[in-house]
Amino acid sequence: MEMAGRGWAVFPIQPGRKWPPAWHRKENCPGHGPCATGHVTPESLATTDPEVIARVWARVPYNVAVFPGKSGLHVVDCDVRKPGEPDGPDGWAELTELAGRRGGPLPETWTTTTPSTGRQLWYAVPPGCRLASTVGHIAAHVDTRGWGGYALAPGSVRDDGAYELSDDTDPVPLPGWLVQANVERRSTAVSGRAETAVAMPDAFAAKAVREECDRIARTPYKQGRNKVLSTAAYALGQLVGAGVLEETYARVQLRAAVATWNTPESAVKDDGVIETSLAAGIANPRRITPRHGTRRAA
Ligand SMILES: [Zn+2]
Repeated sequence: MEMAGRGWAVFPIQPGRKWPPAWHRKENCPGHGPCATGHVTPESLATTDPEVIARVWARVPYNVAVFPGKSGLHVVDCDVRKPGEPDGPDGWAELTELAGRRGGPLPETWTTTTPSTGRQLWYAVPPGCRLASTVGHIAAHVDTRGWGGYALAPGSVRDDGAYELSDDTDPVPLPGWLVQANVERRSTAVSGRAETAVAMPDAFAAKAVREECDRIARTPYKQGRNKVLSTAAYALGQLVGAGVLEETYARVQLRAAVATWNTPESAVKDDGVIETSLAAGIANPRRITPRHGTRRAA
C-alpha cells in the first residue's frame, strides 16, 4: 500500500467509521487481546511493516489511518463551516489570512480533500521537532494532526464520500510560522491575539532574518545553541533598532526557528534569551547606509 511504502505508520479502520471502533481508554484497559502485555493504542500499534499491512488489508478494504507523529508528518486540517454556522471564513480562508498576517509562506504540499470538502495539507516535520495535535488552536476551523492524532489517507471512504488526493507534491517541510503557531500558547501569541498586522521587512532585512534563522535551525543539539540564538537575536535587534525591521516580526521568526529544536523545558529559557538579546540589539542599532550597507553605529 502506498502510505506504508512512504514509511508512514498506518492502522486499519472499518470503512464508514471515523475512529477505531470500541477502542478503550487506559483507565478501562481489560489487559487482554492487544493489551495483554500492557495498554496499547492505535497510535502505538500503527505500523510501517509491509508484511503486516499486506496481510491485514488483503482481508478487508479497511480505511487507512495515518498517524502523523510516528510518520514524521504534521497534517493541517482546514475544515468547512458547519451547517447552521453563521457566514464567515472557512478553515482554508483562515489559514491563508494567518499566513499573510505572519508573513509566512504556505507552500504547496501533499494535499487531500475530505468528503465534506475540507482540505488537509500534509507537511514534513523538521528533524528533532515533536508536535502534538491541536483543535481550533491555530484558527477556529483549523486543526492539526500530529502526535495523538491521525488522518485518513486518500481512498478512505465515509458514508458521505471519499478522501481524495488533490495535490501529489511530496510533503514539504512545515513552515516555521506554522510550527510556531502550533506550539505557542494562546496567551503568548505574538500577533494572533491583538490581530495587528505585521509589516513585512524589505529584501535586505528579510535576507538577514532568513540567514539568522537558518543558522539557528541548523544548529545541532548541544552545539552552543544559546550562543547562536543570542547572537542571532542581537543581530536582528540591531536591525529593529535601526528601523528596518519590525520587532514583532523578528520575534516571531526567531521563535519559529527555535521551535524546530525546542523541547517544552527549553522553550521558556529560549524565550528569555530571545527577549534579552533582542532588547540589547535594539539598544545598539546598526547604522544603515542608503544602499543598505551596514556599519556599526558609533
Ligand atoms: Zn488497553
